[in-house]
Amino acid sequence: MKLCVTTLLLLLALSAILSVNAYKGEPVYRLNTNIRPESYTVVLKPYLLVSDGPQRFTVDGEVFITIRVRGEDVSEITLNAHQIEITSASLSDNSINAGRLIQTFSTGDLNYDETAQKLTLKLQKELMPNGLYLLHLEYVSQIRNDQKGFFHVNYTDNSGNEKCVGLTQAQPINARMIFPCFDEPSFRAHFSLEMSRPANYNTVFNTALMETTTDGEERFWDRFGSSPAMPTYLFAFILSEFVSHGSDTYKIVTRVEHENKTDFAYKVGERATNAFNEYFQIPYKKSISYMQLAAAPNFPFNGMENWGLMIYKEHVLVHEPGYTDDWSNKQFTLSIIFHEISHMWFGNSVTYNWWNHFWLSEAFARYFEYFMAHKLYYEYRLADQFVVNEMHLALSLDASKSTQPLTSPDEEIQSPSEIGYKFNTVTYTKGACIIRMMATIMTQPNFDKAIRDYLEEFLYKSTTPADLFKHIENNWPTATPIDLYQFFYDWTEQVGYPVLFVNASVEGVVTLTQERFLYDSGDGSNKSLTYVIPISYATEHERDFSKYNFPRFYFWKVDNMTISFDKPVKWIIFNLFQTNYYRVFYDRTTLLNIKAALMEPHHSEIPAANRAQLIDDLFNFARVSMVDYETVFQFLEYLANETDYLPWHATFTNLPRVTQRLTRQQQKDFAEFLNITMVKVYTHLGFTLTNLTILDTYNRNEVISWACKYHLFDCDKRAQLLFDKFKKSGTKPAPDFRETFYCSATREGTFAYYQTLKNRFDDEKLVSEKKKIIRAMGCTGHLYEYHFDKIISGLIPKEYAMDAITSMYTQNPDNVRSIFIMLTNSIEKLAEILGGYSNAANLISDIANYLTTHEQKKLLEDFVKTNGTLFESSVPKLHHAIYVVDTNLKWAEKRLPRLIKYLKKSNAASISSLTAFSLIFISFSHEICC
Ligand SMILES: [Zn+2]
Repeated sequence: MKLCVTTLLLLLALSAILSVNAYKGEPVYRLNTNIRPESYTVVLKPYLLVSDGPQRFTVDGEVFITIRVRGEDVSEITLNAHQIEITSASLSDNSINAGRLIQTFSTGDLNYDETAQKLTLKLQKELMPNGLYLLHLEYVSQIRNDQKGFFHVNYTDNSGNEKCVGLTQAQPINARMIFPCFDEPSFRAHFSLEMSRPANYNTVFNTALMETTTDGEERFWDRFGSSPAMPTYLFAFILSEFVSHGSDTYKIVTRVEHENKTDFAYKVGERATNAFNEYFQIPYKKSISYMQLAAAPNFPFNGMENWGLMIYKEHVLVHEPGYTDDWSNKQFTLSIIFHEISHMWFGNSVTYNWWNHFWLSEAFARYFEYFMAHKLYYEYRLADQFVVNEMHLALSLDASKSTQPLTSPDEEIQSPSEIGYKFNTVTYTKGACIIRMMATIMTQPNFDKAIRDYLEEFLYKSTTPADLFKHIENNWPTATPIDLYQFFYDWTEQVGYPVLFVNASVEGVVTLTQERFLYDSGDGSNKSLTYVIPISYATEHERDFSKYNFPRFYFWKVDNMTISFDKPVKWIIFNLFQTNYYRVFYDRTTLLNIKAALMEPHHSEIPAANRAQLIDDLFNFARVSMVDYETVFQFLEYLANETDYLPWHATFTNLPRVTQRLTRQQQKDFAEFLNITMVKVYTHLGFTLTNLTILDTYNRNEVISWACKYHLFDCDKRAQLLFDKFKKSGTKPAPDFRETFYCSATREGTFAYYQTLKNRFDDEKLVSEKKKIIRAMGCTGHLYEYHFDKIISGLIPKEYAMDAITSMYTQNPDNVRSIFIMLTNSIEKLAEILGGYSNAANLISDIANYLTTHEQKKLLEDFVKTNGTLFESSVPKLHHAIYVVDTNLKWAEKRLPRLIKYLKKSNAASISSLTAFSLIFISFSHEICC
């Protein structure tokens, strides 16, 4: 197909554009279903190069849409278009008299509703029911710079040349910026592409390249095969100088200098596809023979699941040996690739019918990025990490008025901004938690069967949650009675979740009640919501957690439930492995009994996920005054016996809310508390052990970070000794450990340590590594004035200034006051370095979070009084910072007195433990010497 080439300047071209009538009235966003697209041929001639002159970043476009009439009395055709200028439009017969022109549309026939982003073409004659027609539109559009639709990004290659890439992001509703289309997920159609490109460029599309021809202008036309029937949001192409490598049907697409750095990603993609093929029992190749994983130098999302052409941020697929090939980077790659490939089934072959059901795709993708990846890459223990990474995150996001249900009412999700609202972490993370809860209750074989049945029935179709629930219900085990539709409703259409209150004060009897958990019960949220709660529990008499990890019954309809036991129960744990989506509040005696059980050998077989749950729940209960922080810390005493990553990670995630509010003196008492609780884990993980598991490696990173931050044990000294060793040998510590280690060595290290890092920073080329080093330089405890001087005198490049400054106060609680004074005394210079007073205000607001005394608050107030006018429109940020400090001070005065007393007491008590610590220190010293 040949495009009518426009060689006029854009302005001249615009004069030929059909003058489209503006639509007036209330916007109706949805399209009529009386016309459905069956296939599209998109023909694009983009002008991407500098040599294209004034036409650069415009596109001459053409689209042929085969439409089927699905209703009667059809007198107009409405489809989506946004920021596209139509230059001609016509309709032909595409059935009996194929090719016969029915209507050429004139100006008066076209109406455009800008708010609803809809174009309506008025017909002179009604269309035949069930008729097949060909709509042909010519238009001019833009290659955008906002990472939507068809957009361009630049990168610099290894030889220092500036390169330009054209690529797409059509989800959620940006396909309408690339070509006029029926841009709703339920309008599936086949797509093919014809792309004109410069000679040194190539095109990749959802499907394989079929043919390339020259058009005689030092350009070529690439023509691609037809895609499976799919929603518009999966349409994708890349116009670039990239290279592809792999097999005929499975390829990685990158810029040439990264071609050899994608081995890990390549294998992961291959293994993931094979695993999903086997698991879903619908082969990927049933729908599309081609799979490409492309790395974009700049992209709005970590990954996008375009069918046949997944596009990823470059650092997902590309690993720099020695820099970004550590465990955490690889885990990131695993998760994102498994996520996107699972979408080939959940999302692509079966699609949610509208955006209010978006979770039908994303909840499963988030679930599989853990649980399928866990099966193949067991060493990452992703199924175990799910609780601390996803469940705890979901429970924190879903406890405020700002949360949203998984399924929003249809009428609330109509406009572009309402559709954007569904792209919310709750959709992904809570969605995955609910899927996991259902999968566990059903047992894996039943769950697997349900989703296979669902995928098979709705292949190439659009679905609602009811379609999924039907198959869940068909495969639901019948052993325990439950109102399943109430269960689905509570967890997908209601917001929030409950706390299960456990009262075991009567011997042999446990009473349960429930209440919705909210961070602010006065924020207007509905407090009275209740939920069908699956009740699983284990006790010291029934401590096989795996065996009892299924609901013994459901708590619903009634105000309370009781469980009676034949014999007294010392400890009881509910919600085993935190499989179900709720928190558990234990009465004080039960909590103390649980703590005692955790102190027993092997923590009385209470799993790490439940230990992490207990900690996360307690911190959150303290946050809303359901318990005092003293209770939380008393419980944390058990950590003296804990070495597992999950409970420690839950602790380290929650601690800053408290530690940031402690004064300098109180920090010392807190350090003593850590001194006691961390000694076992610190000894267990060591500094130099190389055969740690992945989770132990993650744990060691956090443990050393906290230990050195509070100058515990011999942490500073060991970091410095190791630093000397690395310096001498000229090697670098492992990437997993590097930033923590550099920071820990620099904190108390001499000038030589700082200078060594500065030299490494100057020599380093990779931006991500430079950032790690500069943050570590900011950790310096006593050279912060020297470091700051380097920043404001321009010896550290401006683009690294924010990272260089932030770690100074976040990593050295003792220095916050001095650093605040130092920064504010140089505010003019600081603003210049940071690129203006708006950024300076952001920095002052951030450090304000670490101010903990009335004297420090006064320093901030005086600063704002004296210098506020400098900040002009950013001054409200400073006033807000004062408000935050004031709120934090009041919060600490109200909420922390008992904790502070407790910490003092435990400090005094720790003196008796000194002998033990001395012994540990001796053993560490021995390890260093050898
Ligand atoms: Zn996704």
